[in-house]
Amino acid sequence: MLKFTLLQLTTLALVLLSGQEALARPGKLRPVESKRLRNGVKRKALLDGSRKLQEIAYATSERNRVFGSPGHKATVEYIQSELGKTGDYFDVSLQPFTATYAEHSAEVAIDNQPVKSVTFTYSPNGNFQDVEVVNINNLGCDQSDFPPEVEGKIALIKRGTCGFSVKSARAGNAKAVAVLLYNNAPGDVSGTLGSKGPIPEGSFVPIAGITQELGATLVARLAAGEKVTADMKLEGIIEDRLTHNVIAETRGGSKEQVIFVGAHSDSVVAGPGINDNGSGSVALLTVAKELSKYSVNNAVRFAWWSAEEYGLLGAEHYVGELSQEQKDQIRLYLNFDMIASPNYVLSVHDGDGSTFNTTGPPGSAEAEAMFFDYFKNVAKQPLIEGPFDGRSDYGPFLDAGIAAGGLDTGAEGLKTEEEAKIFGGQAGIAYDSNYHQAGDTIDNLSMKAFEVNAKAIAHAVATYATSFESLGPRAASTNNRREAAAKKVDHSTHRCGGDLALL
Ligand SMILES: [Zn+2]
Repeated sequence: MLKFTLLQLTTLALVLLSGQEALARPGKLRPVESKRLRNGVKRKALLDGSRKLQEIAYATSERNRVFGSPGHKATVEYIQSELGKTGDYFDVSLQPFTATYAEHSAEVAIDNQPVKSVTFTYSPNGNFQDVEVVNINNLGCDQSDFPPEVEGKIALIKRGTCGFSVKSARAGNAKAVAVLLYNNAPGDVSGTLGSKGPIPEGSFVPIAGITQELGATLVARLAAGEKVTADMKLEGIIEDRLTHNVIAETRGGSKEQVIFVGAHSDSVVAGPGINDNGSGSVALLTVAKELSKYSVNNAVRFAWWSAEEYGLLGAEHYVGELSQEQKDQIRLYLNFDMIASPNYVLSVHDGDGSTFNTTGPPGSAEAEAMFFDYFKNVAKQPLIEGPFDGRSDYGPFLDAGIAAGGLDTGAEGLKTEEEAKIFGGQAGIAYDSNYHQAGDTIDNLSMKAFEVNAKAIAHAVATYATSFESLGPRAASTNNRREAAAKKVDHSTHRCGGDLALL
């Protein structure tokens, strides 16, 4: 045990004070350092924060945290009040914006037996009982596929070749009252009529999706001359809603070169959204609160985006409001969306393009290398590369030519045999089998992956809050990034919001 005399202690204190005078908050805080910041990130805080978000969701009749809902408003207030506990360490602001909300429900019964069905965004509403079902030839992409007897009846159409919007409009032209669309592959089909492609004249009729298996059964029964009737009840809301991004930036540190970390704070309609993306939200909040014990050389900005699930709308709004000068001040944006998937992989966005051939703006490759170095040498955890396709809130930053990166643990894609060998868990099962469902609760978290990733966020924040030396020279402003990414997009894994199929 060490023992100091009073004189030694006084001298030591003076030395410490004088060493900190150059920093933004003289004499108060010591400089941030990766290990200290990481050690302050505890599993308990991650679980407590997740539980809080679930309670927030379940305290509302909607039981979710979808943007514009009471659950999301309470989420924003919670983030704000937690940040408020750090005193004046951060400048905290709410950025308002309006986005279009759509919510649909479908109930379908065949011969009075309820069947599993899915909705299509922007489908008209409708309510039909005991209406005859007529099979449509081919894929319902041409008007000639529709026999005259479909008038006043429900058109049974197979998915494929042309958009859902085309099929719905063709059915409308044929005077069908609604469309039952069956999948052309196993599993659910979720889609939108919001196609930008050419749509035939005429108005949409209500449309609901059913499984491939049920579709095949109905086709066979109709071919055998049986009569099939259906009930369809489709209800939906489309409205503009006000919502908020939460932005917090350290008062200390250089504002000319900022490290920016973000996660979306909204859920889908189906549930409380605890892995997607309570996990990223809570990790950021935990790191932000810990960071407030230290001083920084470079300013650290945190964002909790809203309306990610409706097409990255919060991040898009934010980046759209930035001047070129403000964009240039962001040296790196790091995104964290779904970092605790129960059947997880540990995955870093492929910023150097070595696996998915989509290289980010200068600095993106270096950010990926920083994570690889950290996982290998410090966390001692395996790390694989995942698509860098702009499918979460870093997309608008890439569009603006800003270096970006991030971590995730997988969504509805299936874990491969090879990944199961590396990470354990079950091959052939989704990384998150509760993705975008009611079951995305605090029981849907890998606390191990959560903790590993939250500490990795702390490491990234501490590293770049200290220095951007490892990031290389500042990126020149470019605007062509997204075009390159659009050429090679892998839709099968790691996606979160904004990905509704058109056909
Ligand atoms: Zn997400």
